Amino acid sequence: MKILNRTQFGNPILRTKAKIIPLKFLKTSKGKTLIKRMIYTMRRTNGVGLAAPQIGKALQLAVMETRPTPTRPKLNHKGPIVIVNPKITKYSGKKTNDWEGCLSLNGVRGKVPRPKEITVRYYNEKGERFIEKISGLWARIFQHEIDHLSGITYIDRIEDTKTIMSLSEFKKRVVNKK
Ligand code: ZN
Repeated sequence: MKILNRTQFGNPILRTKAKIIPLKFLKTSKGKTLIKRMIYTMRRTNGVGLAAPQIGKALQLAVMETRPTPTRPKLNHKGPIVIVNPKITKYSGKKTNDWEGCLSLNGVRGKVPRPKEITVRYYNEKGERFIEKISGLWARIFQHEIDHLSGITYIDRIEDTKTIMSLSEFKKRVVNKK
């Protein structure tokens, strides 16, 4: 399978509000192939999430999966899951400030404050509807991906811009210190 090209910061699609997907699209071979390729691309690029605008499609669709990656070697495996037309209906808990990166801005990391807990509503790849209350890193990834569907990037959310680091410094100063 081919790794899909990732759109990079500066591409206007990353600043566009993505369109709602008709659920019947998920049953088409086009829809199924798109989802398969997005999961494959996320895995091959060591991402924990990938939103459709990042591969050039302004659609309300994202995939997420955690597993040990070079910069998060201790992560537990979870997913993959597909989220379609998601909406965060509630934010709760204190904000936590933690590291994020993005497949659309290679080689950069920064600390992003986000609510610890969210309630989210979404459809999966079969068009089944879910309402879940989630917290921790999984909730952070949800927020990062859902932001992409609204044309928002994690850089917009960074409050302390002094935390922005190149990946090589991040590996030296953060990953290897854990
Ligand atoms: Zn991203």
